[in-house]
Amino acid sequence: LEDSSYTTKGSSKPEVVRVPGGVKGRRKRIVVTGGAGFVGSHLVDRLIERGDSVIVIDNMFTGRKENLLHHLRNPNFELIRHDVVEPILLEVDQIYHLACPASPVHYKYNPVKTIKTNVMGTLNMLGLAKRINARFLLTSTSEVYGDPLQHPQVETYWGNVNPIGVRSCYDEGKRVAETLSMDYHRGAGIEVRIARIFNTYGPRMSIDDGRVVSNFVAQALRKEPMTVYGDGKQTRSFQFVSDLVEGLMRLMEGDHVGPFNLGNPGEFTMLELAQVVQETIDKNAKIEFRPNTEDDPHKRKPDISRAKELLGWQPTVSLREGLPRMVSDFRQRLFGDPKGSVD
Ligand code: NAD
Ligand code: UDP
Ligand code: UDP
Repeated sequence: LEDSSYTTKGSSKPEVVRVPGGVKGRRKRIVVTGGAGFVGSHLVDRLIERGDSVIVIDNMFTGRKENLLHHLRNPNFELIRHDVVEPILLEVDQIYHLACPASPVHYKYNPVKTIKTNVMGTLNMLGLAKRINARFLLTSTSEVYGDPLQHPQVETYWGNVNPIGVRSCYDEGKRVAETLSMDYHRGAGIEVRIARIFNTYGPRMSIDDGRVVSNFVAQALRKEPMTVYGDGKQTRSFQFVSDLVEGLMRLMEGDHVGPFNLGNPGEFTMLELAQVVQETIDKNAKIEFRPNTEDDPHKRKPDISRAKELLGWQPTVSLREGLPRMVSDFRQRLFGDPKGSVD
């Protein structure tokens, strides 16, 4: 009964809504930077569904308008083409700061721009949060642990990061973004939240963005060999996007600054991932070995005890359950197969 007053898009007025957590309040005004991207667009869906007013700021570097098409006519939604490296004036209650290319191929394309986005972009969003007294959530990354010497990675681990390597623009950039967030928190009393996100996959990932799950799935669907870099024994832990979005919202609404690891502890070697893709798409899909990229972390797996305890959060979708949902989306986008779409 409590939730029957929950307002969804299209309902006539009320400015007073009940959000699923049972919190009564004014409709929240929320900025999502990077909201046209993979994770951001799924987050926007949930916020709009909850009854919030959402402004997306995105420079469309890796984002796509298609990800947000279904909201464009909604009066509670606004898309602003803007680069977070430049200042902006807005009045909102919360800022989810996601703007930053996430695929190594994209963030290495113009490394100086990646650093500017992480440093100047985050500074601007924190300056905005300070001026309007908004709550600010940073989407940091498991990359802050670098090539980790501790396994699994706990939030208290400081990491093993090369400051001058080809990945540094991203991982050092995110480390500075975390530092800035904590300094605005301590110095200016801004309410900040920090999420360290582990590899995430799902519908709407860019088909050719070069990340491993999107590569393998697109390759298997196109009947091309799956490209395994190095010996394929390096590991990653893959989280389905809906689990991540749930974690981000709990973190924003909760009382804890973090940082919190948000990831699925299920750990796979790249060869094992290729096998799961074979089982899901085509058991005859071939594997082709390629030289690995520089500074590739050997292993990665989140310890999520802190998020379990303090946010009451844990992932619920395994790789074998999540992958088919991504495959039908990719099939639809690659071949226009209408039966394939889940979104
Ligand atoms: P994505 O590339 O799909 O989305 C990033 C969005 O940010 C895009 O829409 C892009 O156009 C926008 N953007 C980039 N630079 C910008 C700028 N200067 N100004 C405005 N907009 C800009 O990536 P994603 O996977 O959705 O990642 C979202 C966030 O989550 C990123 O901050 C990323 O670092 C973080 N993250 C993601 C993963 C993952 O596995 N997907 C893992 C760790 C961290
Ligand atoms: N900023 C912004 N929007 C605002 C307020 C600030 O983009 O509403 C930017 C501002 O241009 C500055 C950065 O955020 O570059 C940091 O702002 P802050 O007020 O913390 O620092 P200062 O302006 O004093 O350097
Ligand atoms: N990888 C691979 N084949 C590909 C793309 C990536 O084997 O086509 C490997 C890559 O070397 C890394 C892992 O998959 O060890 C994850 O790479 P991704 O770019 O998805 O994310 P990262 O965790 O490195 O940011």
